[in-house]
Amino acid sequence: MSTVAFSTPTPRSRATDIDGRTVAEGDPATASLDTVEAAHRHGVRVLRAAGVEEAWLDALLLLMEVTRLDKATLLAYPQRRLAAGVADRYVDLLGRRARREPTAYILGRCEFYGLEFAVDRRVLIPRPETEMLVDLALEALRPYRPDVARRRVVEVGTGSGAIAVSLLRTVPDLRLTATDCAAEALAVARANAARLGVADRLELRHGDLLEPVEGSFDLLLANLPYVPRGRLPTLQPEVRDYEPRVALDGGPDGAEIIRRLLAQAARRLNPGGHLAVEVDSSHARAVADEARRHFPDADVVVRRDPSGWERVVHIHRPPRPTGPS
Ligand code: GLN
Repeated sequence: MSTVAFSTPTPRSRATDIDGRTVAEGDPATASLDTVEAAHRHGVRVLRAAGVEEAWLDALLLLMEVTRLDKATLLAYPQRRLAAGVADRYVDLLGRRARREPTAYILGRCEFYGLEFAVDRRVLIPRPETEMLVDLALEALRPYRPDVARRRVVEVGTGSGAIAVSLLRTVPDLRLTATDCAAEALAVARANAARLGVADRLELRHGDLLEPVEGSFDLLLANLPYVPRGRLPTLQPEVRDYEPRVALDGGPDGAEIIRRLLAQAARRLNPGGHLAVEVDSSHARAVADEARRHFPDADVVVRRDPSGWERVVHIHRPPRPTGPS
């Protein structure tokens, strides 16, 4: 019987529902969880009260997770009954989300570039705007095809491996070297490369920025920590309290690590090569100016993300002039 789980008495915190009825907010032991619709309503209420922005969607995602049903089925059959164990599990996940744990960590996965990546607290959750770096890389690699395999492509600070793996999935004969200073992040990247079938073309190296990589390269990508340190306490709880600080903290103005990368990369970008680094709009121009100093013969452009923020600094060295022979 699906009501069994709801009969355990637990302390209730009372709250008033939007319709004015008094409900047991955040209470696992409520009979209002016996259908999909009731569980969803309850979830939305709990998450809204906790200040979660996407309460409707997140409650639905958690419900999808525990029922193993897709969104369309849940929405089409609101009166479908929930088994007791399923409702218990749902309440458990709702509680985590209400404490502002990111949905991606609760589910253990997130979508990036149309692929499913495993994520946990060892790595930053890939953001949709970072897909820009993948698109930019594809554009940069276009002239090198079909012998792209001979090109030296590097990603620095790979985290979950989202950028590297997306690129490898999209360009079948590409090979790529990716680094991270956190060994535990490399373990996540390795697992993602394996589950998405590109492990044989991805070389992972542990170390600071470009230090573990020798020689020059044709394409370098980086989404490094770039949040200005003073802003860290003001970030939403999901980011501030759960995501690895080492993946966010970019020093006083946020660009400290990016500057170190530019210094390391200077004189190592091949003619015709590209370097693209994600930035915060607050220091995008400063990073671009710094890039012009390190790469005096390159075109340096600040690119905006789909929301209009200056998000990527793109450095392109012109190909070596062929000249008369
Ligand atoms: N865009 C992320 C955020 O503001 C920061 C990611 C990063 O530092 N690379 O939450």
